Amino acid sequence: MPNLQNHAVHTFTNKPWNLQQCCENYAQAGFGGVSIWRNVVAQDEGGVGLDEAVKIVKGSGLQVPAYVRGGFFPAGDPDKRQAAIDHNKKLLDEAAALGAGQVVLVVGAVPGMPLDEARKQVQDGIAACLPHARAAGVKLSIEPLHPMYAGDKSCINRMAEARQVCEALQDDHLGIALDVYHCWWDPDLEVEIRLAGEQGTLLGYHVCDWRLETRHMLTDRGLMGDGCIDIAGITQMVRATGFTGLAEVEVFSEQYWATDQTEYLKLIAQRCV
Ligand code: ZN
Repeated sequence: MPNLQNHAVHTFTNKPWNLQQCCENYAQAGFGGVSIWRNVVAQDEGGVGLDEAVKIVKGSGLQVPAYVRGGFFPAGDPDKRQAAIDHNKKLLDEAAALGAGQVVLVVGAVPGMPLDEARKQVQDGIAACLPHARAAGVKLSIEPLHPMYAGDKSCINRMAEARQVCEALQDDHLGIALDVYHCWWDPDLEVEIRLAGEQGTLLGYHVCDWRLETRHMLTDRGLMGDGCIDIAGITQMVRATGFTGLAEVEVFSEQYWATDQTEYLKLIAQRCV
């Protein structure tokens, strides 16, 4: 069996499975962790409920690098901005209960709002959540998203913009989650990974692949080896910083969701090594 202890799988990767199935199968396959999406936890999203989720996760023996996902801070209406802050605080509490190390932030963007303004609101929103993060003992990680999502999902599209927020807020509970899908093309990637390492802000590392003929912006990610990303090279840069966290497999794929998930997990395990 390949050593998968330095890998985790995001529950959304096996979307047809519930949390129990994910945890059982990941642990049995030898993975070191599970990153948990809220839809398999929160009852209002169809999950098993927090108490049951905590039981399942603790019973599995798996590490939980991340709880996914918070963010979505910018809004034209101040009440909506406050609601986002309150929601993120709730996510931090849920993450703490689950033993997750971080809440991943998809920071948000508003169509029509200048990106600079959106980034300012993101920084303010994160600042408002950080005391809660410290109290909960859970970190916040900004995940830069590929610029194709700049219109409505994320005004932070490169590691550099995430770094600027980290530098402005200077908090040991704030960092960056690097996803190869979003950042592989960035000419400054190597420099930014090194800087994040030096600044102690590299909190998460997500792997998947970029299919050359992408059919859907959200749900057509490739499994490692399906596309054109130099994953081995990027992984080397990440590990060179001293990053000891788990590499998290995060693949949204209608194609793979339609297949037998047990067989698919075997394929994932193969592609991790
Ligand atoms: Zn990711």
